[in-house]
Amino acid sequence: AAPSAPAAQAAPSRAPCQPAVFVAVDRSPEIQEARLKLPILAEEQVIMEAINENPIVIICGETGSGKTTQVPQFLYEAGYASSGGAIGITEPRRVAAVSMSQRVAKEMNLSHRVVSYQIRYEGNVTDETRIKFMTDGVLLKEIQKDFLLSKYKVIIIDEAHERSMYTDILIGLLSRIVPLRQKKGLPLKLIIMSATLRVEDFTDNTRLFSVKPPVIQVDARQFPVTVHFNKKTPLDDYSGECFRKVCKIHRMLPAGGILVFLTGQAEVHSLCRRLRKAFPYQKNNTAGGEGDKEDSVEEIRKFKKSRKRRKVLALPKIDLNNYSVVPVDEGDEDRDIDSDDDAAGSDLDLDLGDGDSEEDEKSDSSLPLYVLPLYSLLAPEKQEKVFRAPPPGTRLCVVATNVAETSLTIPGIKYVVDCGKVKQRFYDRITGVSSFRVTWISQASANQRAGRAGRTEPGHCYRLYSSAVFMDFEKFSAPEITKRPVEDLILQMKALNIEKVINFPFPTPPPTEALAAAEELLIALGALKEPPVTGRLKQQLAAKLSCPISALGRVMATFPVAPRYAKMLALSRQHNCLPYSITIVSAMTVRELFEELDRPAVSEEEAAQLKGKRARFLQMQKVWAGQGPMQKLGDLMVMLGAVGACEYAGCTPRFCQESGLRHKAMLEVRRLRGQLTTAVNSVCTDAGLYVDPKMKPPTEAQVTYLRQIVLAGLGDHVARRVQAEELLDDKWKNAYKTALLEDPVFIHPSSVLFRELPEFVVYQEIVETTKLYMKGVSAVEPEWIPALLPPYCHFGKPLEDPPPSYCPGTGRVRCHRPSVFYRVGWQLPAVEV
Ligand code: ADP
Ligand code: MG
Repeated sequence: AAPSAPAAQAAPSRAPCQPAVFVAVDRSPEIQEARLKLPILAEEQVIMEAINENPIVIICGETGSGKTTQVPQFLYEAGYASSGGAIGITEPRRVAAVSMSQRVAKEMNLSHRVVSYQIRYEGNVTDETRIKFMTDGVLLKEIQKDFLLSKYKVIIIDEAHERSMYTDILIGLLSRIVPLRQKKGLPLKLIIMSATLRVEDFTDNTRLFSVKPPVIQVDARQFPVTVHFNKKTPLDDYSGECFRKVCKIHRMLPAGGILVFLTGQAEVHSLCRRLRKAFPYQKNNTAGGEGDKEDSVEEIRKFKKSRKRRKVLALPKIDLNNYSVVPVDEGDEDRDIDSDDDAAGSDLDLDLGDGDSEEDEKSDSSLPLYVLPLYSLLAPEKQEKVFRAPPPGTRLCVVATNVAETSLTIPGIKYVVDCGKVKQRFYDRITGVSSFRVTWISQASANQRAGRAGRTEPGHCYRLYSSAVFMDFEKFSAPEITKRPVEDLILQMKALNIEKVINFPFPTPPPTEALAAAEELLIALGALKEPPVTGRLKQQLAAKLSCPISALGRVMATFPVAPRYAKMLALSRQHNCLPYSITIVSAMTVRELFEELDRPAVSEEEAAQLKGKRARFLQMQKVWAGQGPMQKLGDLMVMLGAVGACEYAGCTPRFCQESGLRHKAMLEVRRLRGQLTTAVNSVCTDAGLYVDPKMKPPTEAQVTYLRQIVLAGLGDHVARRVQAEELLDDKWKNAYKTALLEDPVFIHPSSVLFRELPEFVVYQEIVETTKLYMKGVSAVEPEWIPALLPPYCHFGKPLEDPPPSYCPGTGRVRCHRPSVFYRVGWQLPAVEV
């Protein structure tokens, strides 16, 4: 730790709880100079006085004013991290937690042993850690272990304007923890930091804070930004419109960086590709050369190159006893994929050109454009590039998703091109059916995006929509907690013994129907104790909304995964199933293990490539699905087989590339497996589990147990195929009935069970695209259902079926859930009890 020294400057007036020690920090001259330019430095005194005198302080400041990087340093210097205390900072995004801890460590000239981070899968926290960046979910878990958070002297909730679900709940919890700590004589400071967006939900909420906390505004030197609206709003091709706009800016307007907002990773890459082709930047130094190319293209090219060299198609040997795949020739081939020392990719664009023959595409004598992608899944070292000055003689152009809106600030941006859209996951509140939709942003977001252009000098923002459309935008986007299912949140809260969740001081409460659906699911999973059926209906309902947690629920709450998956883990102790269910749960939690091979290709060559990959993937999928009874575990068996095969091959980028797996996802699965194994060991100390990456494939008996375990966890996700005699009309052909929806649902074409059509299945999730599709499907046997899911079964006369209700949000008819298996039309088989 840094040596402590008396403060050089005059000490601010001292309140009783202010620490007495001041800690010196040894910063490099360049850092010192850069810091002094940040608007927040001017406010240090004001901020520290407010913090010293108030338990709770809100700091609002324009993005880039220095909140995240500087406030922890102010506190550290003022001694808040001395004598054993620590400063905790929560971020809603993992990337921000990692990159900000690195930045602050660098600025303070301290090692990551002192300024550390902790995110779900990893961290570098030590005993010496004094400043800890973490995701909001991590702090919530810590509250479960130690409600008073005694090791912290300060908690900073950063990016509160994002209103992530965990941020909201943390603020609610801390509003209670702070007075408790006060009572104990160990005061805890709470600092809420937000971009200059609506903070009234925090300040004017008497349920939350009895005394209105002071709000400190940090004035950023924001230069004027001229906003240009499009006359017309393009209907669909906003990506093409972005391209044309960037070309025009680059050709006609004076120097200054360009920042483009698009909605997703694929769009970002596609625009980068077009722009690079239009204004090529020839690197003669390799320094900037590698990372600014997109991963996928880079990997495909190297993959092709390595294949050419070997002159054989690298088909793997198939070894059924060992998960099926052994790379043909090992050795330094793997290094080839990883190594960066390749010449620049001028042939790359020819390979993967998008075949668009617009006039615009050929450049005249314009400057080269230095194009960088930016999105949250991009590796941190590649994200770092946007902070550096572009190579001399080029113009910087960053093509970004929403991350550039508030989380990261890019220096030197003068022009912003805003498509006005954002990609969001939408959930049906009760059924949990989700879909990705591209929607208009809010007015607050649009203004935030425009603001990115005026950080260093006056700038311009080009909105690719009309002012009339802008006026129709929502003022603010709704907090996450009001938009998604909350069962994981409710389980965490119950584990904190917050029984009457409905009375919790949420900054914005979730809708009651979402709370009720969550409690009902948790009761069915056995995580909550079912209330006795007494009193009037109203009392029964109230009792249902305040059930205490059960012993099983406590175990489930220790696993950092969704309650349905936690239940699977809790049941897997027998028959050595744990390593497999841990793997399946990890794979389901990480999501999107497999590369998207159905995407539209931008050129014939890419189309051919994709076709080849698809064919190969289908082959692999079959192998991973196993044979005979194994196949019935369906897509979950494929996940298990894919992880097993990938680990067997050393989890190399090349193996993933060849097998249609996403390398990043596979690494996450590996980390989550480790983490869940630790969690299981901590719950049942005699399990003595360890992660064996190359675990042996499960036996047939184990697969049968796994199917039952999966059924027990996904109990409300059972579906039954519609029988021939029930076929009402054509739209029910090959359809399934579920407990929660009136509409037909289908097995997704990417599923291994797509052609099998088992009578009863469980699914991981339903995603709505052109139809309602079940993904992550396994077959189950009907006679297991009454044994494993009694809460969902009625023995005897089926309940009266209440009339289905119309759900305005989704435009879909939804039925209540009288009895799952009555709804899906299941007749009780003759079982001996
Ligand atoms: P805020 O939290 O108020 O949005 P930050 O503390 O994140 O602001 O950033 C302050 C400044 O530090 C920004 O201008 C940004 O450009 C700069 N900065 C942040 N991270 C880095 C980094 N890794 N490298 C260089 N500059 C950085
Ligand atoms: Mg910040």
